[in-house]
Amino acid sequence: MRLSKLYMPTLREDPQDAEIASHKYLLRAGMIRKTASGIYTYLPLGYRSIRKIENIVREEMDNAGAMEILMSAIQPAEIWRESGRWDKFGPEMFKLKDRNDREFCLGPTAEEYFTTLIRDEVKSYKDFPLNLYQIQTKYRDEKRPRFGINRAREFSMKDAYTFDTSEENLDIAYMNMYRAYENIFDRLTLDYKIVEGDNGAMGGTGSHEFIALSETGEGVIVYSPSGKFGATEEKAPVKYNLPETEIEKEIEKVNTPNTKTIDEVAEFLNVEKKKCAKAIDLIIEGEPVLVFIPGDRELNMAKLISYTAAPEHEIRMMEDEEILNIKSYPGYTGPKDIDARIIVDKSLTDMKNLVIGSNEDEYHYINANFGRDFKGEVVEDLLLVQEGDLVPGTDEKYEFARGIEVGNIFKLGTKYSKSLGATFLDENGKEKYFVMGSYGVGITRSVTAIIEQNHDENGIIWPLSVAPYEAIVTIVNVKNEEQVRLGEKIYNDLKKKGVEVLLDDRRDRAGVKFKDRDLIGIPLRITCGKKSADNIVEYSTRREMVNMEITAGEAINNILEEIENK
Ligand code: ATP
Ligand code: MG
Repeated sequence: MRLSKLYMPTLREDPQDAEIASHKYLLRAGMIRKTASGIYTYLPLGYRSIRKIENIVREEMDNAGAMEILMSAIQPAEIWRESGRWDKFGPEMFKLKDRNDREFCLGPTAEEYFTTLIRDEVKSYKDFPLNLYQIQTKYRDEKRPRFGINRAREFSMKDAYTFDTSEENLDIAYMNMYRAYENIFDRLTLDYKIVEGDNGAMGGTGSHEFIALSETGEGVIVYSPSGKFGATEEKAPVKYNLPETEIEKEIEKVNTPNTKTIDEVAEFLNVEKKKCAKAIDLIIEGEPVLVFIPGDRELNMAKLISYTAAPEHEIRMMEDEEILNIKSYPGYTGPKDIDARIIVDKSLTDMKNLVIGSNEDEYHYINANFGRDFKGEVVEDLLLVQEGDLVPGTDEKYEFARGIEVGNIFKLGTKYSKSLGATFLDENGKEKYFVMGSYGVGITRSVTAIIEQNHDENGIIWPLSVAPYEAIVTIVNVKNEEQVRLGEKIYNDLKKKGVEVLLDDRRDRAGVKFKDRDLIGIPLRITCGKKSADNIVEYSTRREMVNMEITAGEAINNILEEIENK
């Protein structure tokens, strides 16, 4: 492709709203353009990289025995109603109606769609296992679209679904996909960790997330230094460090003016923060719920969601007025004598003589004890992991890292086959539910993860496997006949050898060409400059930026070798 013909609207300046490198460089390199919040157009260079990622994913899925199909991006509401997720998905789902008022959504994922596709046709145990996938645009009306195509409202996802006859066979299918995912992210050359995930709204019995490490990632993961255990922050179990046990003292109401925070009350009463019960005042599905955890910790919302089974969009903090409505007082909510659902982290029930809010302004109780003074639903672990926590069952401290979730695999079990009535007959003619798994790769998000891990101050540094073009030939001065002659010859030779090559034949100044070349990040480069008459070129690579003056033939060979070895 000739740059003189290529649509590549590069920008000199950093776009205002681009917070992270991938967003900034994709815009500046003329690879994407924004249409609306979280909605993008992929331009020629950007789209080539996306298609390369797609092809890697496709090859690895095909190798793993998955079969590609393509379902509509528009899905009928009925199947989502049947599974119960039409309402559960909440405001993240783009819903629409046709001219006859029939309801649809733009698919945010496709568990229901795949299950109902095969449920009436796959009837015998002999038809299993089955592994189907698609690479399809997905739609989620994200609360906070950010970072360009990293968290978009329209994005490309590969989603696969496996169907098996038993949990054991699901385990086999799951491990097969797990390995395929390792191959995919290895080929994308990502530096990633595989951690246990929270099943969340998806349901099921287990999951792993593939997290591309990056300081700009929205996800936090924790892992043991030995590498034996890793989990997302949401999933990570916390073993709370209990204080020494004491004998129960007499409960007492004490005056505690201006102590609405844990820090204030702990200081005022001169007690450890951990012994002051922290209240999180929530409205869950319209009902008041007070959650209590030790005062030195934060609530893990994912664990609470998993316990209550309430959808995330149905959970919010209480307004002050709502706290007054339950006859309590903001900053002084407590679990004793109150008309609300009370949920208590187990650790608080193992501690004696707690400080709790009295539900009255300026008063707390001291020496409050679970069972004797207050009651509630006890949940094993509602705590967010924090620095210093031990990996349960070991004496290793968790290590923390940030990253971008590029893939997620789930053991769904029979959750969807049950709700959607998908059954088969086993060897003995007995009716059983399909046992399912689902497996997602963020195709367009992977582009951003690759760039986050591969860039410098001048632009993108594409790995060869996903670069929009493998090589670029730059003619420094298009008015010089020798340079043009040599540049055209190298370009044609490389094309003949099957190399994906760009020719910079633009009339621009050399400085502009070099800047653009760095920005768009093509890995292998040949520059035809002053020594062109002698058949001498500069050969360089984007990553190392070393320049070599060698003959055109040698430079071509270098490129062929690099591609051969990729
Ligand atoms: P997140 O936690 O980042 O919102 P998710 O867990 O909801 O993602 P999944 O349902 O697991 O996402 O979807 C499978 C994959 O699709 C994710 O691992 C991610 O790579 C990609 N993905 C999900 N949401 C988006 C989005 N808004 N924009 C781009 N890619 C996305
Ligand atoms: Mg996920």
